Order: sequence, then structure tokens, then C-alpha cells
Amino acid sequence: MPASLEDILSDFWWNPVFLLAGLLLVMLAAGVMFGPVVALLLGLLVMLLYIIRHLRYMADMIRWLADPEMSSALPAASGEWDEIFYSLDRMVRRNKRSTARLFAVLDRFEHAAHAIPDGIVMLNELDQIDWFNPVAGRHFGFDEKIDRGQFIGYLIRQSVFHDYLAHGDYREALVMKSPADRDVTLSVQMVAFGERQKMLISRDVTQFEMVEAMRRDFVANVSHELRTPLTVVGGFLETFIDTPDIPHADFLHYCDLMLQQTDRMRRLVEDLLTLSRLESPQNRLVETRVDMPALIQSLYQDAISLSAGRHPIDLLRDSEDDVLGNIDELSSGLGNLVSNAVRYTPAGKAIRLRWGWRGDELCFDVCDEGEGIEPQHIARLTERFYRVDRGRSRETGGTGLGLAIAKHVLTRHHARLSIESKVGEGSRFSACFPPERVVGQTGSGPGLPRQLQAKLPA
Ligand code: ADP
Repeated sequence: MPASLEDILSDFWWNPVFLLAGLLLVMLAAGVMFGPVVALLLGLLVMLLYIIRHLRYMADMIRWLADPEMSSALPAASGEWDEIFYSLDRMVRRNKRSTARLFAVLDRFEHAAHAIPDGIVMLNELDQIDWFNPVAGRHFGFDEKIDRGQFIGYLIRQSVFHDYLAHGDYREALVMKSPADRDVTLSVQMVAFGERQKMLISRDVTQFEMVEAMRRDFVANVSHELRTPLTVVGGFLETFIDTPDIPHADFLHYCDLMLQQTDRMRRLVEDLLTLSRLESPQNRLVETRVDMPALIQSLYQDAISLSAGRHPIDLLRDSEDDVLGNIDELSSGLGNLVSNAVRYTPAGKAIRLRWGWRGDELCFDVCDEGEGIEPQHIARLTERFYRVDRGRSRETGGTGLGLAIAKHVLTRHHARLSIESKVGEGSRFSACFPPERVVGQTGSGPGLPRQLQAKLPA
């Protein structure tokens, strides 16, 4: 758009060269008309007015720049000052927009850093803490108010961490205990970036470490369990090779002992396979209505044949209700409770099985008058290979996995295993099913939960 005459005049008027030339012309005219003193005074007066004008606009500018947000509108000015104010205003607006953008990015970063499940600590070139997110605060026990600016080595005092920090090779993560909670295991890794800055990333690996430790224990336990029978069988086989003319009766006896050992290994492998099937995520529970009175009757028969007349065994059927579940799994899980009672109860002492309601749960109780279990063992009995008396377990053909299997089966059925025991008096192992699992015998069709039946008209 072509500039207006007014604009051109305005620019021209304030042009310093034009002003100077005009002033000189006026002074020349005044000098000719009124003499040089008047001309000089006139020149001085004009210069003074010019300076005052600039000072006034400068004062306006300083006032406005002090707080462009708060002060009123942009100061009105003419000539070059109008241009200056306009440019400054544009700069301030641009600055405001980029500051707002920067704050939005920072805000997003802060939100993301809070949402990240890992801890993040930003360190400067002196390894002092610039910033950390709340997860890092929890992992290392940092205090937001006092720990910023502190050397990280003062706050994390473990020597493994100091070595890691000093070593400077951060390709591998360091696994260490949390300084804030000894039960928490952290994996920490330093990442160098920028100019000698660092970022410390921490992750809670307690669960992972526990699973790893369990896996190691498990492999060690299985190897140990298999080593003994394998050694026995191997020993007998060597004997046969070294003694070809072994008496037939001895040969048969050794074969019998070897059979016992292979049987032990077979039971162990079967229990391991059962556990692995129960734990497999692909193996979903296939539910049908399980005729519990019939199942319990068959467990009772098993107990009688396993006991071979050594124990008085009772069965109390206080309920005819069934449960929803998998008959094979329930038979194996509950069968372990029954066989344990027979195996750990001395001859002559009684065993009682009961199927009935206790409170709002339907329970299969296996009570025995055995030696009982000391309280410190009870919580650990369902751990794999945990045994109170290793010798007795082996002697009676135990694999150390029976209760682990029972617990898994019950958990899959949303039921629970409760263990009560008194040393010298006996134990009660109960598999308790919640009402949602129960299917009543009377008045309803198969598969209808008992709670629903209660609501049906008679
Ligand atoms: P095991 O094959 O050794 O019997 P379990 O997992 O079935 O393995 O049982 C774990 C341990 O719990 C047993 O070794 C035994 O010490 C203890 N236990 C289980 N049932 C009984 C019981 N009825 N009375 C006393 N101790 C028992």
C-alpha cells in the first residue's frame, strides 16, 4: 500500500538531517534579521526543546518497559518514537507468545515426568541435583525442599553407588537397595547428556528380583530332589555291573529299591507338570458342576486305602451342595490334603473329613490328631518344597509340592486354603469355597448358584 502524504511528511519532518538543515536556515535568517546572539539563542532553544522531547519519550519508554503487562496502553508518540514504541510492543508480544509456549512445554514435561513409573534425577556437571520427579524422591528418600542442589553422593551413601558414580562407565545398570526402604530393590542407570550433565534413572525391581530368586531356588530344589534318587539308582546299576554273580534275592531287593526311587522321581515330575499346568496362562479353568459329595466320598475311600487300617477315619457330610469347578483339579488339590493327613498322623490317631457350611463358606475340612505344626511354619507350608520335617516327608513319599498344588487349585476356584494347627493336638486343613461357587442340590437346575436359588419362589 503506498504511504500517505501525512506519513511521508511525518517521516520527513522528524528526519534529523532535515531538522538540522531547517534549524540552520532559521538561525541564518534570524542572524541576518536580529543579529548572531538572537540566532544562537534561537538555536539553543530549539535544541533544548528537542532534547526535552526525547527525554520525555525516554521516560515513557522506561516506565512502559518496566512492566509492559501491567502499564496501560502503549505510550502515544510521534515520529521515530512512534516507530520505536511500535517495534518494542511487537517484540514484547512475540516474547510473551514464546514464553507461553515454553511454559506449556515445561508443563507437559512436568506432567509426563510425574506420570513416568521410573524415577528420574537430573544432575549438573558437579553431580548436584538439579531436579527429580516424585518417584525418584520415593526411591531415594529425597526431600523436595532441601535436597535440590545437593551432591548426590551425600544423599545416596552406599559404597556400590559411589563406585558406580566414580567409575564413569554407565553402560550397565546398577542393582542396589533403596536408601529409603531396605525392602525395595532398585535398578539404577546413569545416562550422560549435554555438556557433562547426567540423568539418573531408577526402577523398582523388587518383584522381578523376588521372581528371579524364586526361580533360582526352584531350579536348585528340583535338581536337589532329583539328584538323590538318581544317585541311588546309579549306585545300584554300578553294583550290578561290578558284581555279575550277585545273588538273585539281593538282585530283587535292589530292583525293588530302585523302583521306589524311580517312583519318587515320577511323582516329582508329575507334581511339577501339574504345577506348571496350573500356572500356565493358556490353561483357563474349564468349569462344570462338580458333584462334591461324590468327590468327597471317593477321597474318603482313598484315605482308607492309603491308611491301610492304621487310623480311624470318619466322614461327615453336612451338605449335599456342589461347586462349580474342574473335577480333576479339585480331586488333585483336595486329595493332597487327605493324603497329608494320613501321612503325617501317627497310627492309631483319628482323621476326620467334613463337607459342610462354616459361616457363609462351604468348606472341606481335613482334621487330624497328628503332631501338629509350629506356628512359624504355617504361613510357609504352601511354598514349593517347604517341609517341616524333610525326613518324614521323604519317608512317606512326599514331593514337597502337595500344598502348593492345593493352594493353586483353590485360588483358581476363588476358594481359600486355611490351616490351623496346635502342636501335640493336630491340624485342620480347610478348603473353603465362597457362596458364588456353590450350586445347591435342592430345588434348582444344575449350575444355578445357591444365592440365586434362595431368591427363587418356592
Ligand atoms: P510333602 O510332599 O512334603 O508332604 P506338602 O506340600 O504336601 O509336601 O506339605 C508341606 C509340609 O507341610 C510337609 O512336608 C509337612 O511338613 C507339612 N504338613 C502338611 N500336612 C500336614 C499335616 N496334616 N500334619 C502335619 N504336617 C503337615
